[in-house]
Amino acid sequence: MTLSPIDDPLTAPFFHAAAEKRLTVQRCDSCHALRWPPLSGCPECRSRSTTWVDVAPRGTVWSFVVYHRAFQAALKDQVPYTVAMVQLDDGPYLIGRVTPTDDPLAVGDRVEAEFLDVDGLPAVRWRAV
Ligand SMILES: [Zn+2]
Repeated sequence: MTLSPIDDPLTAPFFHAAAEKRLTVQRCDSCHALRWPPLSGCPECRSRSTTWVDVAPRGTVWSFVVYHRAFQAALKDQVPYTVAMVQLDDGPYLIGRVTPTDDPLAVGDRVEAEFLDVDGLPAVRWRAV
């Protein structure tokens, strides 16, 4: 059985926040490092004490790829689609789909989070601004 990310205790806070149109990441209670993806311990200081904190839903494209072949059957009607690694203004990097626009995406583009419902699950996508 596969646990839905909204039901997984490690990732649930992110998805519940996304459902409320907020972007949240873990902050280490010991060294205050922000991190994504969620982990049970801090990679910087190994503390296991964590608090979820809201961050600004904006960032800069650090890298991206355009998928021309679907890696999952459910995505075959969506190719080509773009997935970007975005460095948030608050520091951490998040990976996510990019909403297509008429202009081609470029490294360094500014993006803003969009909060969507995809098949009943909250999702975060990026839109160039
Ligand atoms: Zn830490």
